[in-house]
Amino acid sequence: MENCLFCKIARGEIPSRKVYEDDLVFAFHDINPARPMHLLVVPKRHIVSLQTVTAGDEPVLGRMLAVSRRLAEENGSLEGFRVIINNGRIGGQEVPHLHAHVVGGTEPVGPMLKRN
Ligand code: 5GP
Ligand code: ZN
Repeated sequence: MENCLFCKIARGEIPSRKVYEDDLVFAFHDINPARPMHLLVVPKRHIVSLQTVTAGDEPVLGRMLAVSRRLAEENGSLEGFRVIINNGRIGGQEVPHLHAHVVGGTEPVGPMLKRN
């Protein structure tokens, strides 16, 4: 995808603070962290969101979660962490390339969502 931000980061056309890469996914620090640890785990292949995944995407989806646990530990979130995936307009997704936010640190990240 020519103009996709995270595809550009994957290709190295836009710099990022990369912390991990394998055959299916890569991960880097969020540019505007919401918690002391805030990483983004991203499929290398362009997938828009969970709204567009198919059974064939299961390996990459599993990898995103498995890697999240490892990255949280390696980045100082030793007592737990939260994984957030925003999808589409209702989900508040800003970058239309699937990504898991992995947030944590040494203090609880707080309530899941504010109740309306
Ligand atoms: P979304 O709202 O789509 O779930 O999250 C997009 C995330 O990407 C935001 O947390 C935002 O701070 C992050 N982000 C946007 N542009 C860049 C960038 O150029 N580099 C990095 N590292 N993160 C970005
Ligand atoms: Zn993309």
